[in-house]
Amino acid sequence: MSQPAEALSSNFPALYHYVNGEKITASGGRFGDIFNPTLGVKSAEVPLASKSEVEAAIAVAEAAFPAWAATSVLKRSRVMTKFLQLLYEHQTELAELVCKEHGKVIEDAMGSVLRGIEVVEFACGAPHQQKGEFSDNVANGIDIYSMRKPLGVVAGITPFNFPAMIPLWMTGMAIVTGNTVILKPSEKDPSCPLRMAELFVEAGGPPGVFNVVNGDKEAVDTLLNDERIKAVSFVGSTAIAQYVYATATANGKRCQAMGGAKNHMLIMPDADLEDVANALMGAAYGSAGERCMSISVGVCVGDKVADELIEILKPRVEALRIGPSLDSGLEMGPLVTKQHREKVMSYIQMAQDEGSKLVVDGRDFVCDGYEDGYFLGGSLIDQVKPEMQSYQEEIFGPVLQIMRSGSFEEGMALATDHPYGNGTSIFTKDGAAARTFADKVEVGMVGINVPIPVPLAFHSFGGWKSSAFGDHNQYGMEAMRFYTKVKTVTSRWQDKGLEAEFSMPVLK
Ligand code: NAD
Repeated sequence: MSQPAEALSSNFPALYHYVNGEKITASGGRFGDIFNPTLGVKSAEVPLASKSEVEAAIAVAEAAFPAWAATSVLKRSRVMTKFLQLLYEHQTELAELVCKEHGKVIEDAMGSVLRGIEVVEFACGAPHQQKGEFSDNVANGIDIYSMRKPLGVVAGITPFNFPAMIPLWMTGMAIVTGNTVILKPSEKDPSCPLRMAELFVEAGGPPGVFNVVNGDKEAVDTLLNDERIKAVSFVGSTAIAQYVYATATANGKRCQAMGGAKNHMLIMPDADLEDVANALMGAAYGSAGERCMSISVGVCVGDKVADELIEILKPRVEALRIGPSLDSGLEMGPLVTKQHREKVMSYIQMAQDEGSKLVVDGRDFVCDGYEDGYFLGGSLIDQVKPEMQSYQEEIFGPVLQIMRSGSFEEGMALATDHPYGNGTSIFTKDGAAARTFADKVEVGMVGINVPIPVPLAFHSFGGWKSSAFGDHNQYGMEAMRFYTKVKTVTSRWQDKGLEAEFSMPVLK
């Protein structure tokens, strides 16, 4: 079945699957295109796994599970520590792969790789985190203790926008707890996850523990329907998250499925508008808005706040430093694909057609020397109303929509009533308003004078409403719970014998 990766036919470099510690080229025959977003050209082809190829990878992961699960947690954590070192050593290489396939600029890519590495750093603490509980002598000679056992083969299915960070959210905690993994990364930018799986084996991880299978719906459906897969962790758009959650749970699997977002920043009249503008520039336009925690809606309490803020933002949005991903000192690179760029442009048109005011239109931006790249300038849109489709839906591009609310309560209600509930933030000097906001707003992650409140690795990540389905968040102790099942043992060791008991045993 396997043949050298170079043997494939086309003129473009062909990627591979990484299974059992080996690069496996496709036997299926379907391929997807990978583009360099800065140049606007096809750069490689990725094999799209057939059902039988995915099943072969699952068999490998299943075979690797018993030995890895039986490996001491201390040993597993040492492999993770070595993997952590290699990730640090290869941070620049990984970030450059992110730039070449995703398009975010190098400093941003470096940061995103680091945020993934931090989850691996947390995972190295598994010997402590995976400890069970013990109750001594709950009745005569009886002790109760619990253990956290791995589940088996688990699947991770990831989106295009964080090709290093989100695969590491999942694999770090899944592997250290004793599971084996099939990662199905986005077919738009799979090179970084492939390289990370190689580094895991270089770190001493047994082949078959961390496998990467590339593909599309056929691969995902195989993972969702194969009974050997015990849990599915998904991050992507809401429509697919709902489908993945419904299918995986109907098949008796554990599932956490994170979806899309529309994140509001509430700007109070007492906020420092220079601070707000600084926060919004990074939060709305960083990574070209292709972050599930981007701020895409600024809600100004009062027209005065809105007018003054737009006056500060307009020249800054027009002057965004946009260019090739690998150049340093830039604020924004291209979007991931031509198709995605067109989708974002269609939302800008929709917003205009719906009657909102286009203060800055990024559609005409051309990057000198990179005319074919998938670039867009930043767009700033005012007078956005709750009923507009361009407000109800996720745009996922460098577009900031401004709304005006009459009061704190009305502004907070916009975030609460929106179908998505991933992240939100408030900028204010009023501690009581901030506290009420954090307490009452119906959103999973809240920032107070912090624009993108992505929790660090020792907390956990998860939205509410249409932004997440399932019971556990990503990473942190939530991931420890997601990737393990509890076994509880009641044991009696005593000198005297047992008597027959027919009623429910209770402590006498
Ligand atoms: P996507 O839903 O198109 O793809 C995600 C994954 O699902 C990919 O691996 C893809 O191959 C697979 N997939 C796509 N269509 C499928 C289908 N019909 N059946 C089965 N599998 C399918 O998402 P994307 O465009 O790669 O990523 C952007 C989206 O991800 C945005 O909506 C963004 O908000 C969201 N996102 C959410 C979070 C979060 O934690 N809430 C984090 C990052 C990104």
